[in-house]
Amino acid sequence: MLRFFDLERIDAKKRDVVERTKDFDEIYEVFKPQKAGEQSDRCIQCGDPYCHNGCPLHNFIPQWLKATAHNDLEFAFALSNESSPFPEVMGRICPHDRLCEGSCTLNDGHGAITIGSVETFINEEGFKRGLKPTFSENQIDKKVAIIGAGPAGLSAATFLLREGISVEIFDKQNRAGGLLTYGIPGFKLDKHIVERRVKLLKEAGAIFHQGVEVGSDIAFEELAEKFDALFIGVGATKGRKSGLDGENAPNVYLAMDFLTTIQKKIFDEPRELDIDVRERKVLVIGGGDTAMDCVRTSLREKAKSIKCLYRRDAHNMPGSRKEYINAKEEGVEFEFHSSPKRLILNDDGKVIALEMIKTKLGSPDAGGRQRVEEIAGSEYTIDADIVIFALGFDSVDYPFLASNGIETDKWGGILVDENYETTTAGIYAGGDCHRGADLVVTAVRDGRDAAKAIAKKLIV
Ligand SMILES: Cc1cc2nc3c(=O)[nH]c(=O)nc-3n(C[C@H](O)[C@H](O)[C@H](O)COP(=O)(O)OP(=O)(O)OC[C@H]3O[C@@H](n4cnc5c(N)ncnc54)[C@H](O)[C@@H]3O)c2cc1C
Ligand code: SF4
Repeated sequence: MLRFFDLERIDAKKRDVVERTKDFDEIYEVFKPQKAGEQSDRCIQCGDPYCHNGCPLHNFIPQWLKATAHNDLEFAFALSNESSPFPEVMGRICPHDRLCEGSCTLNDGHGAITIGSVETFINEEGFKRGLKPTFSENQIDKKVAIIGAGPAGLSAATFLLREGISVEIFDKQNRAGGLLTYGIPGFKLDKHIVERRVKLLKEAGAIFHQGVEVGSDIAFEELAEKFDALFIGVGATKGRKSGLDGENAPNVYLAMDFLTTIQKKIFDEPRELDIDVRERKVLVIGGGDTAMDCVRTSLREKAKSIKCLYRRDAHNMPGSRKEYINAKEEGVEFEFHSSPKRLILNDDGKVIALEMIKTKLGSPDAGGRQRVEEIAGSEYTIDADIVIFALGFDSVDYPFLASNGIETDKWGGILVDENYETTTAGIYAGGDCHRGADLVVTAVRDGRDAAKAIAKKLIV
């Protein structure tokens, strides 16, 4: 260990920029064993590891780095699967720079350990060599219904199965995975990675009911009656509207509708919308990860030009720096300090341009973030064939919550106590429907910790 003196931090290699924009395949390569071992060997094995605290799952990072450096893949695989339901997913898509790697002691000029890439390697190499995560062999006579097969629901299912509790998962989409499947594009996360974990859950006994919407195809009350406990992980995917006149024009889309439609097209599944950006001028409004996914998807869908418009600057973008850099590398144009004022429609009611206004950053708000101020008289227009708004997400108002005594906060997030139990006994919740649109890793933590609390209550 301690090789940070003579070995530099090396990130996973990216595919050639021209090649990678021709398809939806992942852009990062998985480390080869030698590289993973060397990069793990840089770790200084801190007594009080900050990376462990920076990771929302409190993964056993120094321990699996040491095992990787010592070529003990079996132990590294077992450890990394102990606290996480699908480490190879988080290794790919966590904003590491803000979490584990951001907290690494070496992130002070020496270069943080490439924790995410090693985590991906351990699991990809482990699967390649036939390793599998373990589940309980002793079944107990208890069953839990999980509503939503996104990261929160899949995580809850994993940790309940490990306790010997049966699970049935109900999801309105055709495929499991939630936003891992229908939101996050394949160039960040290949869909086979998600399918492999779903298959393992099925082998461990999980029953999936896909294409079943709770509240319309099956009553919530029926599940509450039939199961010993319920976990709600329905996400928060209602796109925030801009509030501008004309936003309902047929060539104006919300980011989630756009990304889901393209993914369904790739899956060759029926879709509610028909969106074609080929040879069109696409404007994406927003500066977060979802906006980056929209611009990079438009590029792969062969749009004529793609511009991302954001009202703050690059430094103040809310998403991951890595994704902004990837988008820039791929040729996306950015226009900062620019905010939409008006959608300009033609006689057919289609948007043909956006009126924008220049902005500047003013005094900080209560949270310390600089406010955006419009610069009077700086309006200008940009032509557009397609406009995509990526302005964040609101909660979905499920009637079955209130009618079953499940209270929500002002935003609409499901209220839970320290055990993830809602205001109705025996009903638990976690992920974006509880905390608001956030991250895969936090949804996964909610699912894991809720499962542990459910097991504690059911196993007496
Ligand atoms: C475009 C995009 C890119 C993102 N990129 C990243 C990233 O790179 N890294 C990262 O960490 N996070 C990312 N996120 C955020 C992350 O995807 C979410 O925080 C996470 O998926 C939340 O998990 P969840 O299980 O709470 O909800 P979801 O993933 O939304 O899953 C909810 C599930 O519930 C189902 N459902 C909803 N209502 C019902 C019902 N009534 N009956 C049955 N089923 C129902 C849905 O079909 C869905 O499968 C991204 C989000 C988006 C939108
Ligand atoms: S789950 Fe995310 S934060 Fe935790 S070790 Fe893995 S990549 Fe880092």
